[in-house]
Amino acid sequence: MNIGFIGLGAMGYPMSHLLAAAGHTVTVMDLNSEATARFVAEHPGAKVAGALNDFAEANIVITMLPNSDVVDSVVLGGEKAGLVSILKKGSAVIDMSSSEPLRSKALFEKLTEQGLDYLDAPVSGGVKRAVDGTLAIMIGGPENLVAKYRPVLEILGKNLTHVGPSGAGHAMKALNNYVSAAGLAAVAEALRAGEAFGLDPAVMTAVLNSSTGKNNTTENKVVPFMLSGKYNSGFSMELMVKDIGIAIKLGESMHSPMDVGQSVLSSWRDANQTLGKGADHTEMYRYVEVKRSKQ
Ligand code: NAD
Repeated sequence: MNIGFIGLGAMGYPMSHLLAAAGHTVTVMDLNSEATARFVAEHPGAKVAGALNDFAEANIVITMLPNSDVVDSVVLGGEKAGLVSILKKGSAVIDMSSSEPLRSKALFEKLTEQGLDYLDAPVSGGVKRAVDGTLAIMIGGPENLVAKYRPVLEILGKNLTHVGPSGAGHAMKALNNYVSAAGLAAVAEALRAGEAFGLDPAVMTAVLNSSTGKNNTTENKVVPFMLSGKYNSGFSMELMVKDIGIAIKLGESMHSPMDVGQSVLSSWRDANQTLGKGADHTEMYRYVEVKRSKQ
């Protein structure tokens, strides 16, 4: 198939690689010309799209972009035409970014009116699982479209779940990341408090992992990214703040309590502001220490 891929960042680059390695003709686009040049140098047969018009012959265009504003700008267009008026009927947009559920629903409706397919199919698992092709993928959209595009998504992920109609994938993703962010912040605070008391954070992590406090952070993030001081998970703090914000907005619009969520959001926002642009989300552990040292 002829697959367009927009957004060759930490996640999009390895995902595009897997599609090319599976034999698809991949056309890539990114604001970062170094990333697109590297991709075509590494993948003979791949092409760079200089403009959205270069996707006119694509069967599918996958977006892996920072947020809904950017996704809307490429799908709906602004001063220049967007994919909605460029793609040929019967082709598809699959948004794998972590976007806003209500805006995804709106995109589905607009694209359907034009005879185009749309799925929201955000992912979880981070850069490592993007490289391995073992991402968890949560899909929102009609059953027939999920079945139609499942073979392509199976190249990228191993745990594919059709979670509901259009927008449901993005709702699920934001709620997942809220839970993950709450767990990570709790672990960072507990480790720093324990350290101040005289506990060894490595010993604490081992005990948490054999006790009821175990979570994804204690199992997969503390040792490689926090205690090592590397903070190089590949998922930025800025993107985490965006995801928690989407989850809290969703909860509030459903009149569902988000008391813990409000506190988690404010803590992550403050961490992001304190550490500045470019911080990795695992630097929450560093932020807690910065905050403690000021008290
Ligand atoms: P990233 O910042 O590394 O990559 C985003 C890419 O989009 C960049 O290369 C940027 O140049 C490009 N871009 C921005 N605006 C553009 C535009 N208008 N046209 C073309 N390219 C444009 O981000 P990432 O970590 O790869 O995340 C991408 C999406 O996946 C986000 O929605 C994020 O929340 C989600 N996500 C990330 C992870 C992770 O571990 N990094 C995990 C799951 C989901």
